[in-house]
Amino acid sequence: MTAVSSLEFRVLSSGSSLDPKPETRNLRPIGLYIHIPYCASRCHYCDFNTYRFDAVQAEQYLQALAQEIDLRAALEALQGRRLCSVFFGGGTPSILEASQIVRILDRCRAAFAFEDGVEISLEANPGTVDFPKLRALREGGITRLSFGAQAVQDGLLRRIGRAHDAREAEQAFWMAREAGFNNVNLDLMFGLPSQRLEDWAESLGWAVRLRPEHVSTYGLILEEGTRLYKEHRIGALELPDEEMEAAMYQMALDRLTDAGFEQYEISNFARPGFLCRHNLVYWEHQEYLGLGAGAYSFVDGQRYFNELLPANYVRGIRERGTAVAGGEKVSPEMLRSERLMLGLRLRGGLDVRTFTDILGIEHLAASDRVVRLLDEGFLDLKEGRVLITERGLLVANELIVQLL
Ligand code: SF4
Repeated sequence: MTAVSSLEFRVLSSGSSLDPKPETRNLRPIGLYIHIPYCASRCHYCDFNTYRFDAVQAEQYLQALAQEIDLRAALEALQGRRLCSVFFGGGTPSILEASQIVRILDRCRAAFAFEDGVEISLEANPGTVDFPKLRALREGGITRLSFGAQAVQDGLLRRIGRAHDAREAEQAFWMAREAGFNNVNLDLMFGLPSQRLEDWAESLGWAVRLRPEHVSTYGLILEEGTRLYKEHRIGALELPDEEMEAAMYQMALDRLTDAGFEQYEISNFARPGFLCRHNLVYWEHQEYLGLGAGAYSFVDGQRYFNELLPANYVRGIRERGTAVAGGEKVSPEMLRSERLMLGLRLRGGLDVRTFTDILGIEHLAASDRVVRLLDEGFLDLKEGRVLITERGLLVANELIVQLL
């Protein structure tokens, strides 16, 4: 990564020689990510860019965010682009007042053109919402809620440092329905300390019973610096073994697809018509703008990132008119490997032409690795597309590394 000064950023983004000619300008829709870096407390597995909530700091942050919305919307590279999705992520966006979120959303509406049917998602934690807040969010234009439920065993929730219990998660879900949300995601986690297969079955059964439109299932990853990572290093963490994790993943596949969900990405399941538009922006390698502390943008073949610390972010916006801390031009090689990684995670896979172009081969049979993975049943060829099979899903990351 190279540092990009605010001046360079303005040049790169406002009609430099790198800007395509108007007639060849990319006018495809773009996704917008807005980072809210505050949580009630830190979960024991989390290494996200988030800090303990403070109402005064949060308000200052939102004022800077509103300024950044206007500054970025004015960039030449974004003229004529419509938003297909807005995603409030974090952190815990739902820790804010509904009026604060709606204020930011209104600012986006004033600054950007929205596509018809734009998806506007908000990540929410049970325990930070009540019915009036949810109703105000719905009325204010939020169309999709994503609840971090994670598990339905209170002991497990405490073990991983979640600030809510199972009862609150269920209440939050029904309040969201009551408030008019007909597009709700539930996040669930497996591979947790001391989690048994029966626990996981119970969590999946709970989600199926609630009938959300979308379920995301994530295996625990021990990120350096987190409390669970430290416990693991001193041998104080009892984790399910690899075989158990594979059984949990397979169970999610079976239970959720039996219940009518379509698996459209390795970790994501949706009812027909409810695929997450914003996540597809990332997975289909489309462009996105990221606002707020530590947020990444990918626009016109360049990737930028903002100052990580909220205080530095606010200062950057106030004093320099930008919080961009660095960036890079994404090389063709990087673009290819990212497209392979993201495309193969999608259950629709990649069309053969794109796949062979990425690998730099004439046809599938020209690569021994591809032939082997097809023969061994890790990859499949269906209707002109290369897909990872159900067997391959369990080792998807290794497969992709082998291909690259
Ligand atoms: S609520 Fe989410 S972002 Fe906040 S600490 Fe927990 S996992 Fe991290």
